Amino acid sequence: MNWTVSRHDLPLSAPFGISRGTSEICECVVVELTHEGTTGYGAVTPSAYFGETTETVTETLPDLLAAVDEVGDPHAGQRIERLCREVAPDQPAARSAVGIAVADWAARTLGVPLYRQWGLDPERVPATSYTVGIDPPEEMAAKAHAAVEAGFGILKLKLGSDDDRARFDAVRAAVPETELRVDANAAWDADEAVAKAGWLEAGGVTMLEQPVAADDVAGLARVTDVTTMAVCADEACQTATDIPRLADACNVVNVKLPSAAVRGRPGGWFTLPTPTGSPRCLAVWSSPAPRFPPPSTSRPSSTTPTSTARSCSMRTPSRASPSRATGSTSGRCRRARARAGSEPGKTGRFPASAVNRQ
Ligand SMILES: [Mg+2]
Repeated sequence: MNWTVSRHDLPLSAPFGISRGTSEICECVVVELTHEGTTGYGAVTPSAYFGETTETVTETLPDLLAAVDEVGDPHAGQRIERLCREVAPDQPAARSAVGIAVADWAARTLGVPLYRQWGLDPERVPATSYTVGIDPPEEMAAKAHAAVEAGFGILKLKLGSDDDRARFDAVRAAVPETELRVDANAAWDADEAVAKAGWLEAGGVTMLEQPVAADDVAGLARVTDVTTMAVCADEACQTATDIPRLADACNVVNVKLPSAAVRGRPGGWFTLPTPTGSPRCLAVWSSPAPRFPPPSTSRPSSTTPTSTARSCSMRTPSRASPSRATGSTSGRCRRARARAGSEPGKTGRFPASAVNRQ
């Protein structure tokens, strides 16, 4: 078994801003794993926010790849995953690069795309959203309009800066019919988030991602309580062990392979029964967002076996498990039923557009 590790600093076509800062390059680490004449590829863009950098990843990869070599059979993904977790328990980005390379190798060896090996249904791949970073309002509006013109049907706006309302209003005016999601990247406190949820909901936003600090679970629950938007945990959910404490405070979690090293089905669903009996619906996702302009080949596709585009899949709790949702009398469950259109006089807001392909 042979392998190579390489670093690639990909310059962005334009600076990409979120509430925590602005980046101008995308730092990637690529693993090429060759065994019995077949090469599998894995790549990761580690996040310093989660404690990993290209330096830590490249330093760790030799040990992880030695673990793969020790197992001796790249088809033995579960054994490889277990051993890699022992070798680098706190470095999911590095493990993710190896896991992707191993999975890619196995699929190539079998002569099938990875989505076929995993038995995924291309018709059920959720739509990819295009992320518009923080910029002056007119620039965000122009980027949003251009993204829609390029074929993206769902946009995710980064907010959490000094003038969120002006930025949002500019984008909404530029793309009045487009589904919008908002990601504050933990920038607001609960009071601010609750206040902004009002005009975001009125502006037709379907999902609000990480509105409050990562450790403010009570604040997250407050926001969920006051809005019919789907509220999503991102920074708050770094491993599967975070899910139980978040399950009753939000509707969705955003899971990224570099921060969680999840071996799962891209675009698949987790549903979690909570202690109160109300299931929460959780999204699985992959790598960081593409940067505009997207090449024609990277447009949202229902047949892409492994996506490099961040997106989000959502289902409402009542759709995931109608009996459980219907059985609860909590406020959040009533709202969940309303979102799914199961409550008289109300219609589902986001389920259809969230899962429709572009
Ligand atoms: Mg996010």
